[in-house]
Amino acid sequence: LRSCQRLPKVELHAHLNGSVRPQTIKDILDERSRAGEALPVTEQQLADLTAGGERSLRDCFRLFDLIHAVTTTPAAIARIAAEVVRDFAADQVVYLELRTTPKARPEYGMTKESYTEAVLDGIDAALRQLRAAPPRAASQQQLLPAGAHAAGPAPPAAAGRPAASAEPGAAGPGSEGGGQGAGEVASPSHAQMVAASEGVVLSPRAAPHASSVSSSSATPATPAAAAEAAPAPGPGPGSGPGGGVIVVKLLLSIDRREDAAAALETVQLAARLQPRGVVGVDLSGNPYVGAWAQWEGALDAARVAGLRVTLHAGEVVAPEEVGAMLAWRPERLGHCCCLDAELAAQLKSSAIPLELCLTSNVLTQSVPSYPEHHFAELYAAGHPVVLCTDDSGVFGTTLSREYAIAAAAFKLPVSALHELARRSVEYTFASEAEKAQLRQLVARELAALE
Ligand code: 5GP
Repeated sequence: LRSCQRLPKVELHAHLNGSVRPQTIKDILDERSRAGEALPVTEQQLADLTAGGERSLRDCFRLFDLIHAVTTTPAAIARIAAEVVRDFAADQVVYLELRTTPKARPEYGMTKESYTEAVLDGIDAALRQLRAAPPRAASQQQLLPAGAHAAGPAPPAAAGRPAASAEPGAAGPGSEGGGQGAGEVASPSHAQMVAASEGVVLSPRAAPHASSVSSSSATPATPAAAAEAAPAPGPGPGSGPGGGVIVVKLLLSIDRREDAAAALETVQLAARLQPRGVVGVDLSGNPYVGAWAQWEGALDAARVAGLRVTLHAGEVVAPEEVGAMLAWRPERLGHCCCLDAELAAQLKSSAIPLELCLTSNVLTQSVPSYPEHHFAELYAAGHPVVLCTDDSGVFGTTLSREYAIAAAAFKLPVSALHELARRSVEYTFASEAEKAQLRQLVARELAALE
């Protein structure tokens, strides 16, 4: 795990409200309780929300509805966005494409636009805080063109940064079995790997900055103030001279519950907010709900507006829909767990990059086990794949853990992990100029580890 924490990583499939720290949900509820509000969740639901671990796909969507019932104010949303950015930065993620579903909540005075602006304000606030971290030689702003959300000083030289420290209580293939080094991540026995993977998935993540989160912290009135006031990174990875370089982009998600008009509204919002770092559109939400024809027109409009598109596909058996999605040729796809042989062949010949979320797929039983995950087949076939977290808060994972699990489950040598990290830059929705800068950054950091 430690050697994976040191890798400069690219996260391309992370849902904002699925990445929320459990402690933050508790804080928001405490605050609402102190304000005399009736709480939107029962004690039991709160326990479920913060427990982590194995859940069916259907249970996950019930859980997301509960999270949404808690995170109703722009201030709460900005706080969550700021914390999520800092958590990924602390995990040595150098480029993050965060996604979220804009929500109109008239009962709370929130529109899709004000929701999304709160998210962007939270991101900006986190980046300001990360920039204020102990300085290093060159700034990420110098490294990247204007318009990119970017924060954090770049490492001083090819010597790279110190290793990110392990999260408290973190368990994983690299951390179990007595101080395994980089080379050893690649070759645990099958039994060790399964045991280690179980350790990873069964124990909820210790929030990277849990120790610095006060349960009595009140969320300030405005989104910007909330994000600024959100607990700053503690003395963990990413908070000191060793971390903090991160570029953040936003994708707006269409929820499968939305009709054509609502989907188009989200696309139009994404198009308007491109100058603030919105680079694309995602289709997600309960895969048992809705039909492709509902959103195809909005996705066409996204393409015309210059937005990139990624689609959740094949989380359940839905051959017609997956066929239509492949024929539409999105820039990326997520999951693709339940494809028959014909669709799998079509996917491979399409060469569409695939976002793969190992822990999420195993915990929701979309795939039976890590070794049986379709990562193995696609990777062996040379299909473009990128490891992602999906919902790091809900599933108790980090991107470093996903790399460690992949190393153990698929017996990947360290050089393969480096190559995965390197190639992931190519699948981002960043501009060519930004990609060129990211390539340099990742190459420099990897060279320092080699
Ligand atoms: P939000 O968009 O509210 O920031 O993040 C949570 C939402 O992301 C969920 O309500 C759901 O629509 C979507 N989501 C999160 N994880 C998954 C997943 O594994 N599969 C699908 N299809 N949607 C997801």
